Amino acid sequence: MLLQKSPPRPDLKNADEKAQELILELELHQIELELQNEELRMAQEKAELFADRYIEFFDFAPFGYYEFTDKGEILELNLRGAELLGGDRSSLKKSCFGFFVTEDTKQTFNLFLEKIFQERKKVKCELILTPHNGEPIYVFLSGIPIYKTQHCIVNVVDITQNKIAQNLLIANKELAFQNEEKEKRAAELVIANKELAFQNEEKEKRAAELIVAKEKAQENDRLKSAFLANMSHEIRTPMNAILGFSDLLKNFEVTGEQSEQYISLIEQGGERLLNLINDLVEISRIESGQMELVLSKCNIREQVEFIYNLFSSEVTRKGMQIFIHGELTAYESNVMTDREKIYEILTNLVKNAIKYSDHGSIEIGYRLRREHHHPELIFYVKDTGIGILPENIKFIFDRFRQGSESNTRSYEGAGLGLSISKAYVEMLGGRIWVKSEIKRGSTFYFAIPYFPMVRTLCPLSSHLS
Ligand code: ADP
Repeated sequence: MLLQKSPPRPDLKNADEKAQELILELELHQIELELQNEELRMAQEKAELFADRYIEFFDFAPFGYYEFTDKGEILELNLRGAELLGGDRSSLKKSCFGFFVTEDTKQTFNLFLEKIFQERKKVKCELILTPHNGEPIYVFLSGIPIYKTQHCIVNVVDITQNKIAQNLLIANKELAFQNEEKEKRAAELVIANKELAFQNEEKEKRAAELIVAKEKAQENDRLKSAFLANMSHEIRTPMNAILGFSDLLKNFEVTGEQSEQYISLIEQGGERLLNLINDLVEISRIESGQMELVLSKCNIREQVEFIYNLFSSEVTRKGMQIFIHGELTAYESNVMTDREKIYEILTNLVKNAIKYSDHGSIEIGYRLRREHHHPELIFYVKDTGIGILPENIKFIFDRFRQGSESNTRSYEGAGLGLSISKAYVEMLGGRIWVKSEIKRGSTFYFAIPYFPMVRTLCPLSSHLS
Protein backbone atom coordinates (compact mmCIF):
# COMPACT_ATOMS: atom_id res chain seq x y z
CA MET A 1 0.00 0.00 0.00
CA LEU A 2 1.36 3.52 -1.02
CA LEU A 3 1.20 6.42 1.54
CA GLN A 4 0.78 10.07 0.31
CA LYS A 5 2.68 12.79 2.19
CA SER A 6 1.00 16.46 2.79
CA PRO A 7 3.35 19.59 2.58
CA PRO A 8 4.79 20.50 6.04
CA ARG A 9 3.77 23.82 7.91
CA PRO A 10 6.58 25.67 9.66
CA ASP A 11 4.87 25.85 13.14
CA LEU A 12 3.56 22.62 13.08
CA LYS A 13 6.51 21.30 11.37
CA ASN A 14 7.94 19.35 14.23
CA ALA A 15 4.66 18.03 15.50
CA ASP A 16 3.51 17.22 12.08
CA GLU A 17 6.75 15.61 11.25
CA LYS A 18 6.47 13.56 14.34
CA ALA A 19 2.90 12.60 13.51
CA GLN A 20 3.95 11.79 10.03
CA GLU A 21 6.71 9.65 11.32
CA LEU A 22 4.31 7.98 13.71
CA ILE A 23 1.82 7.34 10.94
CA LEU A 24 4.59 6.01 8.82
CA GLU A 25 5.69 3.83 11.61
CA LEU A 26 2.13 2.65 12.15
CA GLU A 27 1.71 2.04 8.50
CA LEU A 28 4.91 0.06 8.44
CA HIS A 29 3.78 -1.82 11.49
CA GLN A 30 0.48 -2.55 9.83
CA ILE A 31 2.31 -3.78 6.78
CA GLU A 32 4.39 -5.97 8.98
CA LEU A 33 1.29 -7.24 10.71
CA GLU A 34 -0.43 -7.91 7.45
CA LEU A 35 2.66 -9.77 6.26
CA GLN A 36 2.70 -11.70 9.50
CA ASN A 37 -1.00 -12.43 9.05
CA GLU A 38 -0.37 -13.64 5.59
CA GLU A 39 2.46 -15.85 6.87
CA LEU A 40 0.21 -17.15 9.64
CA ARG A 41 -2.59 -17.91 7.19
CA MET A 42 -0.18 -19.73 4.97
CA ALA A 43 1.24 -21.60 7.94
CA GLN A 44 -2.28 -22.49 9.04
CA GLU A 45 -3.13 -23.69 5.55
CA LYS A 46 0.04 -25.74 5.54
CA ALA A 47 -0.75 -27.10 8.99
CA GLU A 48 -4.27 -27.98 7.90
CA LEU A 49 -2.84 -29.69 4.83
CA PHE A 50 -0.44 -31.65 7.02
CA ALA A 51 -3.22 -32.48 9.46
CA ASP A 52 -5.37 -33.72 6.57
CA ARG A 53 -2.51 -35.81 5.30
CA TYR A 54 -1.87 -37.27 8.75
CA ILE A 55 -5.56 -37.99 9.17
CA GLU A 56 -5.41 -39.75 5.81
CA PHE A 57 -2.37 -41.68 6.94
CA PHE A 58 -4.13 -42.46 10.20
CA ASP A 59 -7.41 -43.48 8.55
CA PHE A 60 -6.08 -45.44 5.63
CA ALA A 61 -3.19 -47.11 7.42
CA PRO A 62 -3.19 -50.89 6.89
CA PHE A 63 -3.27 -51.39 10.68
CA GLY A 64 -5.93 -50.54 13.18
CA TYR A 65 -5.08 -47.52 15.42
CA TYR A 66 -6.99 -46.93 18.64
CA GLU A 67 -6.84 -44.65 21.55
CA PHE A 68 -8.03 -46.45 24.67
CA THR A 69 -8.66 -45.41 28.20
CA ASP A 70 -7.04 -47.58 30.88
CA LYS A 71 -10.35 -49.51 30.98
CA GLY A 72 -10.17 -50.32 27.27
CA GLU A 73 -12.83 -47.81 26.21
CA ILE A 74 -12.28 -46.71 22.61
CA LEU A 75 -11.78 -42.94 22.37
CA GLU A 76 -10.53 -42.75 18.81
CA LEU A 77 -9.92 -45.22 15.99
CA ASN A 78 -9.00 -45.22 12.33
CA LEU A 79 -10.96 -46.75 9.45
CA ARG A 80 -8.99 -49.99 9.52
CA GLY A 81 -9.61 -50.18 13.26
CA ALA A 82 -13.35 -49.92 12.63
CA GLU A 83 -13.10 -52.49 9.85
CA LEU A 84 -11.33 -54.95 12.16
CA LEU A 85 -14.21 -54.71 14.64
CA GLY A 86 -16.85 -54.90 11.87
CA GLY A 87 -18.63 -51.60 12.69
CA ASP A 88 -18.60 -47.94 11.70
CA ARG A 89 -16.26 -45.56 13.36
CA SER A 90 -18.75 -43.29 15.08
CA SER A 91 -20.74 -46.13 16.69
CA LEU A 92 -17.57 -47.78 17.91
CA LYS A 93 -16.35 -44.70 19.75
CA LYS A 94 -17.08 -44.98 23.47
CA SER A 95 -17.56 -48.74 23.13
CA CYS A 96 -15.33 -51.17 24.98
CA PHE A 97 -12.64 -52.99 22.98
CA GLY A 98 -12.81 -55.91 25.42
CA PHE A 99 -16.31 -56.63 24.15
CA PHE A 100 -14.75 -57.95 20.91
CA VAL A 101 -12.10 -60.04 22.66
CA THR A 102 -12.92 -63.78 22.91
CA GLU A 103 -13.41 -65.26 26.38
CA ASP A 104 -10.23 -67.33 26.29
CA THR A 105 -8.02 -64.31 25.44
CA LYS A 106 -9.82 -61.72 27.60
CA GLN A 107 -7.41 -62.19 30.49
CA THR A 108 -4.46 -61.52 28.17
CA PHE A 109 -6.09 -58.24 27.10
CA ASN A 110 -6.67 -57.14 30.70
CA LEU A 111 -3.05 -57.90 31.57
CA PHE A 112 -1.94 -56.01 28.45
CA LEU A 113 -3.76 -52.83 29.57
CA GLU A 114 -2.61 -53.24 33.15
CA LYS A 115 1.02 -53.52 32.08
CA ILE A 116 0.88 -50.47 29.78
CA PHE A 117 -0.16 -48.20 32.62
CA GLN A 118 1.87 -49.88 35.32
CA GLU A 119 5.16 -50.05 33.45
CA ARG A 120 4.39 -47.12 31.11
CA LYS A 121 6.24 -48.57 28.20
CA LYS A 122 5.48 -50.41 24.98
CA VAL A 123 3.61 -53.70 25.58
CA LYS A 124 2.66 -56.40 23.08
CA CYS A 125 0.20 -59.31 23.05
CA GLU A 126 -1.82 -61.62 20.79
CA LEU A 127 -5.61 -61.89 21.01
CA ILE A 128 -8.55 -63.38 19.20
CA LEU A 129 -11.28 -60.90 18.25
CA THR A 130 -14.83 -61.65 17.20
CA PRO A 131 -15.92 -58.77 14.94
CA HIS A 132 -19.60 -57.92 14.46
CA ASN A 133 -21.11 -60.53 12.10
CA GLY A 134 -17.71 -62.00 11.28
CA GLU A 135 -15.39 -64.96 11.80
CA PRO A 136 -12.89 -64.75 14.67
CA ILE A 137 -9.55 -63.22 13.73
CA TYR A 138 -6.11 -63.39 15.30
CA VAL A 139 -4.63 -59.96 16.09
CA PHE A 140 -1.30 -58.65 17.29
CA LEU A 141 -1.49 -55.62 19.63
CA SER A 142 1.27 -53.21 20.56
CA GLY A 143 0.30 -50.41 22.89
CA ILE A 144 2.04 -47.41 24.37
CA PRO A 145 0.73 -44.96 27.05
CA ILE A 146 0.12 -41.33 26.09
CA TYR A 147 2.43 -39.06 28.04
CA LYS A 148 1.05 -38.04 31.46
CA THR A 149 -2.46 -39.46 30.78
CA GLN A 150 -4.35 -42.65 31.51
CA HIS A 151 -4.83 -43.12 27.75
CA CYS A 152 -2.89 -45.24 25.37
CA ILE A 153 -2.36 -45.65 21.64
CA VAL A 154 -2.79 -49.24 20.44
CA ASN A 155 -1.75 -50.59 17.07
CA VAL A 156 -3.66 -53.73 15.98
CA VAL A 157 -2.50 -56.00 13.12
CA ASP A 158 -4.55 -58.83 11.65
CA ILE A 159 -2.29 -61.90 11.81
CA THR A 160 -4.97 -64.47 10.98
CA GLN A 161 -3.23 -65.56 7.74
CA ASN A 162 0.11 -65.88 9.54
CA LYS A 163 -1.56 -67.86 12.29
CA ILE A 164 -3.26 -70.16 9.79
CA ALA A 165 0.07 -70.63 8.02
CA GLN A 166 1.76 -71.19 11.38
CA ASN A 167 -0.93 -73.65 12.44
CA LEU A 168 -0.61 -75.37 9.08
CA LEU A 169 3.12 -75.56 9.61
CA ILE A 170 2.61 -77.03 13.07
CA ALA A 171 -0.02 -79.42 11.69
CA ASN A 172 2.40 -80.34 8.89
CA LYS A 173 5.17 -80.92 11.39
CA GLU A 174 2.79 -82.99 13.47
CA LEU A 175 1.80 -84.93 10.37
CA ALA A 176 5.44 -85.38 9.39
CA PHE A 177 6.15 -86.59 12.91
CA GLN A 178 3.15 -88.93 12.78
CA ASN A 179 4.32 -90.17 9.38
CA GLU A 180 7.79 -90.73 10.76
CA GLU A 181 6.26 -92.61 13.68
CA LYS A 182 4.13 -94.64 11.27
CA GLU A 183 7.17 -95.44 9.16
CA LYS A 184 9.06 -96.45 12.28
CA ARG A 185 6.11 -98.58 13.34
CA ALA A 186 5.91 -100.05 9.82
CA ALA A 187 9.63 -100.84 9.94
CA GLU A 188 9.15 -102.41 13.37
CA LEU A 189 6.20 -104.36 11.99
CA VAL A 190 8.33 -105.55 9.07
CA ILE A 191 10.96 -106.73 11.55
CA ALA A 192 8.28 -108.28 13.75
CA ASN A 193 6.81 -109.94 10.66
CA LYS A 194 10.19 -111.28 9.69
CA GLU A 195 10.67 -112.53 13.22
CA LEU A 196 7.23 -114.15 13.09
CA ALA A 197 7.96 -115.63 9.67
CA PHE A 198 11.24 -116.96 11.07
CA GLN A 199 9.47 -118.38 14.11
CA ASN A 200 6.84 -119.88 11.84
CA GLU A 201 9.54 -121.35 9.66
CA GLU A 202 11.21 -122.73 12.76
CA LYS A 203 7.88 -124.11 13.95
CA GLU A 204 7.22 -125.64 10.56
CA LYS A 205 10.72 -127.10 10.56
CA ARG A 206 10.13 -128.42 14.07
CA ALA A 207 6.73 -129.80 13.01
CA ALA A 208 8.31 -131.40 9.95
CA GLU A 209 11.06 -132.84 12.17
CA LEU A 210 8.43 -134.12 14.57
CA ILE A 211 6.53 -135.71 11.70
CA VAL A 212 9.75 -137.30 10.45
CA ALA A 213 10.59 -138.42 14.00
CA LYS A 214 7.07 -139.78 14.43
CA GLU A 215 7.22 -141.56 11.10
CA LYS A 216 10.63 -142.89 12.03
CA ALA A 217 9.32 -144.07 15.40
CA GLN A 218 6.37 -145.73 13.66
CA GLU A 219 8.70 -147.23 11.07
CA ASN A 220 11.02 -148.45 13.84
CA ASP A 221 8.05 -149.91 15.61
CA ARG A 222 6.94 -151.65 12.46
CA LEU A 223 10.48 -152.84 11.77
CA LYS A 224 10.78 -154.14 15.31
CA SER A 225 7.59 -156.16 14.90
CA ALA A 226 8.72 -157.38 11.48
CA PHE A 227 12.14 -158.22 12.89
CA LEU A 228 10.66 -160.15 15.83
CA ALA A 229 8.28 -162.02 13.55
CA ASN A 230 11.13 -162.74 11.15
CA MET A 231 13.49 -163.85 13.90
CA SER A 232 10.93 -166.07 15.48
CA HIS A 233 10.24 -167.59 12.05
CA GLU A 234 13.96 -167.94 11.30
CA ILE A 235 14.51 -169.76 14.61
CA ARG A 236 11.30 -171.78 14.78
CA THR A 237 11.41 -173.14 11.22
CA PRO A 238 14.77 -174.92 11.47
CA MET A 239 14.14 -175.82 15.12
CA ASN A 240 10.82 -177.43 14.20
CA ALA A 241 12.52 -179.31 11.38
CA ILE A 242 15.28 -180.54 13.68
CA LEU A 243 12.89 -181.57 16.47
CA GLY A 244 10.26 -182.99 14.12
CA PHE A 245 12.57 -185.14 12.03
CA SER A 246 14.58 -186.24 15.10
CA ASP A 247 11.29 -187.45 16.55
CA LEU A 248 10.49 -189.32 13.35
CA LEU A 249 13.91 -190.96 13.43
CA LYS A 250 13.07 -192.50 16.79
CA ASN A 251 10.43 -194.51 15.00
CA PHE A 252 11.90 -197.95 14.18
CA GLU A 253 9.72 -198.31 11.10
CA VAL A 254 11.63 -195.60 9.24
CA THR A 255 13.36 -196.98 6.22
CA GLY A 256 17.02 -196.36 5.47
CA GLU A 257 16.16 -194.01 2.62
CA GLN A 258 13.71 -192.06 4.77
CA SER A 259 16.16 -191.76 7.62
CA GLU A 260 18.80 -190.37 5.22
CA GLN A 261 16.29 -187.81 4.02
CA TYR A 262 15.36 -186.88 7.59
CA ILE A 263 18.98 -186.56 8.65
CA SER A 264 19.64 -184.32 5.65
CA LEU A 265 16.69 -182.10 6.63
CA ILE A 266 17.93 -182.00 10.24
CA GLU A 267 21.36 -180.97 8.93
CA GLN A 268 19.83 -178.24 6.78
CA GLY A 269 17.89 -176.93 9.77
CA GLY A 270 21.03 -176.99 11.89
CA GLU A 271 22.97 -175.18 9.18
CA ARG A 272 20.31 -172.55 8.85
CA LEU A 273 20.31 -171.97 12.59
CA LEU A 274 24.08 -171.86 12.65
CA ASN A 275 24.09 -169.31 9.82
CA LEU A 276 21.63 -167.15 11.70
CA ILE A 277 23.64 -167.37 14.90
CA ASN A 278 26.83 -166.60 12.95
CA ASP A 279 25.22 -163.57 11.32
CA LEU A 280 23.93 -162.30 14.67
CA VAL A 281 27.34 -162.76 16.26
CA GLU A 282 29.01 -160.99 13.30
CA ILE A 283 26.69 -158.02 13.37
CA SER A 284 27.02 -157.58 17.13
CA ARG A 285 30.82 -157.76 16.82
CA ILE A 286 30.72 -155.14 14.06
CA GLU A 287 28.42 -152.90 16.07
CA SER A 288 30.49 -153.18 19.24
CA GLY A 289 33.62 -152.32 17.23
CA GLN A 290 35.27 -155.67 17.98
CA MET A 291 35.60 -156.71 14.37
CA GLU A 292 39.16 -156.20 13.20
CA LEU A 293 40.93 -156.37 9.87
CA VAL A 294 43.32 -159.25 9.46
CA LEU A 295 45.56 -158.45 6.51
CA SER A 296 47.33 -161.22 4.68
CA LYS A 297 48.25 -162.28 1.21
CA CYS A 298 45.21 -163.19 -0.83
CA ASN A 299 44.91 -164.54 -4.33
CA ILE A 300 41.75 -163.12 -5.81
CA ARG A 301 41.47 -165.66 -8.62
CA GLU A 302 41.78 -168.55 -6.20
CA GLN A 303 39.34 -166.98 -3.81
CA VAL A 304 36.68 -166.53 -6.50
CA GLU A 305 37.26 -170.01 -7.87
CA PHE A 306 36.87 -171.43 -4.38
CA ILE A 307 33.48 -169.76 -4.01
CA TYR A 308 32.51 -170.89 -7.52
CA ASN A 309 33.26 -174.49 -6.55
CA LEU A 310 31.53 -174.10 -3.22
CA PHE A 311 28.22 -173.11 -4.77
CA SER A 312 28.27 -174.70 -8.24
CA SER A 313 26.48 -177.87 -7.14
CA GLU A 314 23.76 -175.86 -5.36
CA VAL A 315 23.31 -173.70 -8.47
CA THR A 316 23.17 -176.72 -10.73
CA ARG A 317 20.62 -178.33 -8.43
CA LYS A 318 18.41 -175.27 -8.98
CA GLY A 319 18.76 -175.81 -12.75
CA MET A 320 20.91 -172.72 -13.15
CA GLN A 321 24.43 -172.00 -14.31
CA ILE A 322 27.34 -170.23 -12.66
CA PHE A 323 30.25 -168.44 -14.36
CA ILE A 324 33.40 -166.60 -13.45
CA HIS A 325 34.50 -163.55 -15.39
CA GLY A 326 37.97 -162.60 -14.20
CA GLU A 327 40.19 -159.96 -15.73
CA LEU A 328 43.23 -160.21 -13.49
CA THR A 329 46.48 -161.92 -14.41
CA ALA A 330 47.90 -164.45 -11.98
CA TYR A 331 50.44 -161.82 -10.97
CA GLU A 332 47.85 -159.06 -10.46
CA SER A 333 45.69 -161.45 -8.46
CA ASN A 334 48.07 -161.42 -5.52
CA VAL A 335 46.97 -158.68 -3.21
CA MET A 336 47.19 -157.69 0.39
CA THR A 337 43.77 -157.71 2.01
CA ASP A 338 41.56 -159.38 4.60
CA ARG A 339 40.88 -162.70 2.90
CA GLU A 340 38.12 -163.77 5.28
CA LYS A 341 36.18 -160.57 4.73
CA ILE A 342 36.40 -160.88 0.94
CA TYR A 343 35.23 -164.49 1.29
CA GLU A 344 32.31 -163.45 3.53
CA ILE A 345 31.21 -160.64 1.22
CA LEU A 346 31.32 -162.78 -1.94
CA THR A 347 29.61 -165.69 -0.14
CA ASN A 348 26.78 -163.43 1.03
CA LEU A 349 26.29 -162.00 -2.47
CA VAL A 350 26.37 -165.40 -4.19
CA LYS A 351 24.03 -166.94 -1.58
CA ASN A 352 21.57 -164.09 -2.23
CA ALA A 353 21.93 -164.47 -6.01
CA ILE A 354 21.01 -168.16 -5.66
CA LYS A 355 18.26 -167.47 -3.16
CA TYR A 356 16.56 -164.75 -5.21
CA SER A 357 16.84 -166.46 -8.62
CA ASP A 358 14.88 -169.45 -9.96
CA HIS A 359 16.38 -169.71 -13.40
CA GLY A 360 19.13 -168.35 -15.60
CA SER A 361 22.67 -167.85 -14.45
CA ILE A 362 24.95 -166.31 -11.88
CA GLU A 363 28.16 -164.56 -12.79
CA ILE A 364 31.00 -163.75 -10.40
CA GLY A 365 33.36 -161.16 -11.82
CA TYR A 366 36.39 -159.13 -10.85
CA ARG A 367 38.57 -156.58 -12.60
CA LEU A 368 41.07 -153.86 -11.94
CA ARG A 369 40.14 -150.25 -12.34
CA ARG A 370 43.33 -148.32 -12.96
CA GLU A 371 42.06 -145.02 -14.38
CA HIS A 372 41.32 -143.77 -10.86
CA HIS A 373 44.06 -142.00 -8.87
CA HIS A 374 44.01 -144.96 -6.48
CA PRO A 375 43.50 -148.20 -8.43
CA GLU A 376 40.55 -150.28 -7.29
CA LEU A 377 39.57 -153.93 -7.39
CA ILE A 378 35.99 -154.21 -8.53
CA PHE A 379 33.96 -157.37 -7.83
CA TYR A 380 30.45 -158.13 -8.95
CA VAL A 381 27.86 -160.88 -8.58
CA LYS A 382 25.24 -160.82 -11.27
CA ASP A 383 22.02 -162.82 -11.31
CA THR A 384 18.91 -163.18 -13.44
CA GLY A 385 16.57 -163.29 -10.45
CA ILE A 386 13.59 -161.37 -9.13
CA GLY A 387 15.33 -157.98 -9.01
CA ILE A 388 14.73 -155.22 -6.47
CA LEU A 389 12.23 -152.38 -6.60
CA PRO A 390 14.00 -149.00 -6.97
CA GLU A 391 12.33 -147.66 -3.81
CA ASN A 392 13.72 -150.63 -1.79
CA ILE A 393 17.29 -150.28 -2.98
CA LYS A 394 18.02 -147.47 -0.49
CA PHE A 395 17.52 -149.63 2.58
CA ILE A 396 18.46 -153.22 1.65
CA PHE A 397 21.97 -152.53 3.03
CA ASP A 398 20.50 -151.60 6.44
CA ARG A 399 20.57 -154.29 9.10
CA PHE A 400 17.45 -156.40 9.54
CA ARG A 401 15.92 -154.78 6.44
CA GLN A 402 14.62 -156.90 3.64
CA GLY A 403 13.67 -155.88 0.11
CA SER A 404 9.99 -156.19 0.77
CA GLU A 405 9.09 -157.04 4.31
CA SER A 406 5.74 -158.50 3.25
CA ASN A 407 7.35 -160.97 0.84
CA THR A 408 10.10 -162.12 3.12
CA ARG A 409 8.36 -165.27 4.06
CA SER A 410 8.82 -166.64 0.57
CA TYR A 411 12.60 -166.35 1.14
CA GLU A 412 14.39 -167.37 4.28
CA GLY A 413 16.83 -164.90 5.88
CA ALA A 414 17.13 -162.35 8.67
CA GLY A 415 18.09 -159.32 6.59
CA LEU A 416 21.68 -159.30 7.85
CA GLY A 417 23.79 -160.54 4.91
CA LEU A 418 24.01 -157.23 3.01
CA SER A 419 24.55 -155.07 6.09
CA ILE A 420 27.43 -157.34 7.19
CA SER A 421 28.85 -157.20 3.64
CA LYS A 422 28.58 -153.40 3.57
CA ALA A 423 30.33 -153.10 6.95
CA TYR A 424 33.18 -155.34 5.73
CA VAL A 425 33.56 -153.44 2.44
CA GLU A 426 33.77 -150.17 4.34
CA MET A 427 36.32 -151.64 6.76
CA LEU A 428 38.41 -152.45 3.70
CA GLY A 429 38.15 -148.81 2.59
CA GLY A 430 35.67 -149.52 -0.22
CA ARG A 431 32.04 -149.10 -1.21
CA ILE A 432 29.18 -151.35 -2.26
CA TRP A 433 26.22 -150.68 -4.56
CA VAL A 434 23.64 -152.47 -6.69
CA LYS A 435 22.00 -152.11 -10.08
CA SER A 436 18.79 -153.96 -10.46
CA GLU A 437 15.79 -154.35 -12.68
CA ILE A 438 12.66 -155.96 -11.40
CA LYS A 439 12.14 -159.49 -12.78
CA ARG A 440 15.32 -159.13 -14.87
CA GLY A 441 17.95 -159.55 -12.17
CA SER A 442 20.45 -157.68 -10.03
CA THR A 443 24.16 -156.99 -10.07
CA PHE A 444 25.85 -156.28 -6.76
CA TYR A 445 29.19 -154.47 -7.03
CA PHE A 446 31.83 -153.70 -4.50
CA ALA A 447 35.12 -151.88 -4.94
CA ILE A 448 38.10 -151.95 -2.60
CA PRO A 449 41.50 -150.27 -2.93
CA TYR A 450 43.99 -152.36 -4.87
CA PHE A 451 47.19 -153.20 -3.02
CA PRO A 452 49.28 -155.65 -5.08
CA MET A 453 51.74 -157.73 -3.12
CA VAL A 454 54.74 -155.89 -4.65
CA ARG A 455 53.84 -152.78 -2.74
CA THR A 456 55.02 -152.04 0.76
CA LEU A 457 52.51 -152.46 3.50
CA CYS A 458 52.75 -148.89 4.76
CA PRO A 459 50.41 -147.21 2.27
CA LEU A 460 47.91 -149.99 2.73
CA SER A 461 47.67 -149.66 6.47
CA SER A 462 47.56 -145.85 6.26
CA HIS A 463 44.81 -146.03 3.63
CA LEU A 464 42.74 -148.47 5.61
CA SER A 465 43.14 -146.54 8.83
P1 ADP B 1 18.15 -161.56 3.59
O1 ADP B 1 18.57 -162.09 2.28
O2 ADP B 1 18.48 -162.46 4.71
O3 ADP B 1 16.76 -161.04 3.62
P2 ADP B 1 20.13 -159.57 3.02
O4 ADP B 1 20.71 -158.50 3.88
O5 ADP B 1 21.12 -160.50 2.45
O6 ADP B 1 19.02 -160.26 3.88
O7 ADP B 1 19.34 -158.90 1.87
C1 ADP B 1 18.46 -157.85 2.16
C2 ADP B 1 17.36 -157.81 1.11
O8 ADP B 1 17.91 -157.46 -0.15
C3 ADP B 1 16.69 -159.12 0.87
O9 ADP B 1 15.65 -159.34 1.80
C4 ADP B 1 16.18 -158.99 -0.54
O10 ADP B 1 14.94 -158.35 -0.55
C5 ADP B 1 17.19 -158.09 -1.20
N1 ADP B 1 18.20 -158.82 -2.01
C6 ADP B 1 19.46 -159.10 -1.65
N2 ADP B 1 20.12 -159.72 -2.69
C7 ADP B 1 19.19 -159.85 -3.70
C8 ADP B 1 19.24 -160.39 -5.01
N3 ADP B 1 20.36 -160.96 -5.52
N4 ADP B 1 18.14 -160.29 -5.76
C9 ADP B 1 17.01 -159.71 -5.29
N5 ADP B 1 16.90 -159.18 -4.04
C10 ADP B 1 18.00 -159.25 -3.26
